[in-house]
Amino acid sequence: MCIFCNIANKTEKANIEYEDNDFIVIKDIHPKAPVHLLIIPKKHIESVKEAKEEDKELLGSLILLAKKIAEQKGLDYYKLDFNVGRGAGQEIGHIHMHLKSDAIRS
Ligand code: AMP
Ligand code: ZN
Repeated sequence: MCIFCNIANKTEKANIEYEDNDFIVIKDIHPKAPVHLLIIPKKHIESVKEAKEEDKELLGSLILLAKKIAEQKGLDYYKLDFNVGRGAGQEIGHIHMHLKSDAIRS
């Protein structure tokens, strides 16, 4: 089991921002922006490279979930990133999207 699977099944601790049947959203442990969240599908997919046609709905939902969370946080702008493969900086072999922003409405 990888670390994000373990966070999803609660055998590993994390700072959870949101959870539903398909996703868990946590604060990045080494934030690179004032808001830095990881949107993680509970299904173990290694990376975008391993995503399949059957994951289409899940990955569409992932983007819409990021949008919902950004709206709830009042973020006017933000970055959504996937690191795909070690060479691109992917450290954890479980697909996740970074949501980063320095736009925090007061
Ligand atoms: P990536 O480099 O795209 O695989 O992103 C992995 C991210 O996960 C990095 O930004 C790490 O800081 C973060 N990270 C690693 N372990 C944890 C953890 N236990 N809880 C929260 N974030 C983590
Ligand atoms: Zn996993």
